[in-house]
Amino acid sequence: MEPTRNKIIADFLAHNADQSAQFTSPDQTLSRRQHRAENPVAIAAMKCMDGRINLSFITGFPIGIIRPFRNLGGKFDIGGHFGELLLNWVMRAVAAGKDSIVLVTYHWSRGATERGCKGFHCNVDDAIAYTTDLVRDVEEVFGARHEVVYPVQVGIETDEDALVFHGSGKTLDLSKVTSDDRDTLRIALESLYPDMKRRMIESLVNLCVGNIRHISAIRRAARPLADIDHKETMLGVGPGFNWFHLPNQMLIVGPYSYDLAEPIAVAGKILLNNIESGSVSKEDGVALLTSATYWDEGPEKTRAAMKARSLMRFARATLEEKVPDLMPYLDFGAGILNENTILFTPVEFDK
Ligand SMILES: [Zn+2]
Repeated sequence: MEPTRNKIIADFLAHNADQSAQFTSPDQTLSRRQHRAENPVAIAAMKCMDGRINLSFITGFPIGIIRPFRNLGGKFDIGGHFGELLLNWVMRAVAAGKDSIVLVTYHWSRGATERGCKGFHCNVDDAIAYTTDLVRDVEEVFGARHEVVYPVQVGIETDEDALVFHGSGKTLDLSKVTSDDRDTLRIALESLYPDMKRRMIESLVNLCVGNIRHISAIRRAARPLADIDHKETMLGVGPGFNWFHLPNQMLIVGPYSYDLAEPIAVAGKILLNNIESGSVSKEDGVALLTSATYWDEGPEKTRAAMKARSLMRFARATLEEKVPDLMPYLDFGAGILNENTILFTPVEFDK
């Protein structure tokens, strides 16, 4: 059984090497820079750790444009460490002369309540109420008149990957929109967000057009039920997994909560359920990966390695205590991610 289980981490590293080669290629480097130069609006997304949630994939946006933040349920405390990260991200966008859209997302399944968000015990009304409050928190910090930063509440219906935009007490449900006509979408978005600057509206129109095309591709492909329920094989803990965009393969927990054990335990239970339900084979097993990121060689890099090891110790001990039945199926990998190249380098740790 050992060699097959290690295959998950080997596949992960091979996928990373491929992503890094593409990311650092002249074409992708230049087109990313061009996209940033052309687009006066930066987009961040607060979202659930759920492996099915993948905004680049469901909107056709180039990788590395939407800045993701992931935690259990898409729950975030702006008063905590996360708030500093969001503030830094906004300030960088402001310094570059850009507006910012912060997508505050929740998710659910139209076909079956139990396919919803484990972070809210599959209760979509609770998720909507929570993200409504989170939008207010963002407004309190960055301004209720939305002159530079606009938080936007968005639902993600995972059966069809359809986005639902909330605003002014109304919704725009893209699963019910058949035309990707920009003028029609612009008018619909303006009625939801009457005070939104035109260039921000145009950014949302781009998201909508990409999502409408994705929904119709999903409908044509008649995605099997097995692909819309959980089938992740990896739990990634730490900030170094933003480049990973294969849908439904990895649960990602950014270390944002005071209680980091809770999201790790919930993710571990999802992995165990994937094995017990047969959507992941016992022979293949699952893997816990931890990471930290760095820009510069030297102490930043060695500290990142230490952080990856520290997260491994904590996450592993948490799973041993809270989800002991998962341990026989679990393989482990820790590594550091170079932000310039998105290359993930494994680091040694005590097994
Ligand atoms: Zn969720």
